[in-house]
Amino acid sequence: MGTVHRQVILVGGGIAGLWALRSLVAAGYDAILLEREAIGAGQTLGSQGILHGGVKYGLDGTARDIAAKLRALPPVWQACLEGDREPRLSGGEILSRCQHLWAADSWLAKVGATVGVRAMQGEVRKLERGGWPEALREGGHQGSVYELGETVIEVRSVLAALAGPVRERIFRGEVDRWEAEEGGQGLAGVWCGGQRLTAEAFIFAAGTGNEAGAAAAGFGGAVGQRRPLKQVMVRGPLPRLYGHCVTAAPKPVVTITAHPSGEETVWYLGGGVAEEATGMADEAAMRSARQKLAGIFPSYSWEGLSWACWQVDRAEPNAANRLPDGPALVARGGTALAWPSKLVYAPSLAEEVLGFVARRLAPGMREGATVPLPRAELGRYPWETADWLAI
Ligand SMILES: Cc1cc2nc3c(=O)[nH]c(=O)nc-3n(C[C@H](O)[C@H](O)[C@H](O)COP(=O)(O)OP(=O)(O)OC[C@H]3O[C@@H](n4cnc5c(N)ncnc54)[C@H](O)[C@@H]3O)c2cc1C
Repeated sequence: MGTVHRQVILVGGGIAGLWALRSLVAAGYDAILLEREAIGAGQTLGSQGILHGGVKYGLDGTARDIAAKLRALPPVWQACLEGDREPRLSGGEILSRCQHLWAADSWLAKVGATVGVRAMQGEVRKLERGGWPEALREGGHQGSVYELGETVIEVRSVLAALAGPVRERIFRGEVDRWEAEEGGQGLAGVWCGGQRLTAEAFIFAAGTGNEAGAAAAGFGGAVGQRRPLKQVMVRGPLPRLYGHCVTAAPKPVVTITAHPSGEETVWYLGGGVAEEATGMADEAAMRSARQKLAGIFPSYSWEGLSWACWQVDRAEPNAANRLPDGPALVARGGTALAWPSKLVYAPSLAEEVLGFVARRLAPGMREGATVPLPRAELGRYPWETADWLAI
């Protein structure tokens, strides 16, 4: 089997790799992407799909820089989703155009000032009871409810829209061998599905797979970090709800997103519930989440529902195990490692990738050059492959 040579090889078909591929191809680069499992199969299809605008991160006052940086990004996404700018994602669906923030009044003392400022800036709006989402109205919530103008995307449809025009450039196969450039400056080649591939630039947007690329390409030290989460899922005849339950703790006690699943709905539980669950066996995590939900929605019955867990590592640039303050691209020779840290940062990370490639080589598109690997399919959500339990 001969060597395949392309200008740019991207490794990893999550939001970061796909957005970068679209940008590179639009700029005229002969780029391809290698994905070991399926499009979105890593963190991206396991995410909650929230296009954070920073409100959540500004609540306790310790992450104001992150909050400010995030505020500028959703408009870029919005324009892409509306088909007004490249990459046009008009096939991407929206699950909700807003989220809610709810808290018992006693808890609002701590976050009240921040919420008040945001309310003045028009970013959050206090709702009268009649305007509350059904789950909070009928579930017995006592306290305040705010609406945040943050969009929740239907991730798979967005990935399909992103991959669509470049689908013939996305191949399935695991990069499992690496050849270092002489002198240790990045990579000379990679092996995928028994095929050797070389390129002038290699971009790893492989989530946890960046670690192996980093080691092979001679990046010293810990360039990435992993922060574990165990998402808890509950399925049944649940209403749609998107948002955060806030207490006096710095982070939301739970972040809930609702996802259609046949006739039923899956509530996908992140935030504090998913962080605490990492230390628990699955069934204990489900029982603990159920107890929390029973406290938050005292009028609902939690009998007769199905429960599941999904364990995952957030793969991020090294930030001493804390929330990174943005996306990161680190390079060595012609090899770069990329982490978006949040879905919402994918466009700015793709710009950085394009800048990195443009500084090294001029566009040289080749149409129709074949790569002897199968095409990658779209992946599935964690709740589509979960083992459900009645607890
Ligand atoms: C539970 C959870 C909830 C989240 N919720 C949100 C949210 O609501 N909003 C938000 O903005 N962010 C959220 N995030 C963060 C966000 O999902 C990630 O920052 C983002 O998806 C990372 O995208 P990525 O493309 O870098 O990585 P990934 O999506 O992990 O993609 C990496 C890909 O590389 C592939 N790969 C790995 N190794 C190799 C190899 N050797 N060869 C070939 N392919 C390889 C993997 O199969 C994978 O598909 C969440 C993250 C998690 C874990």
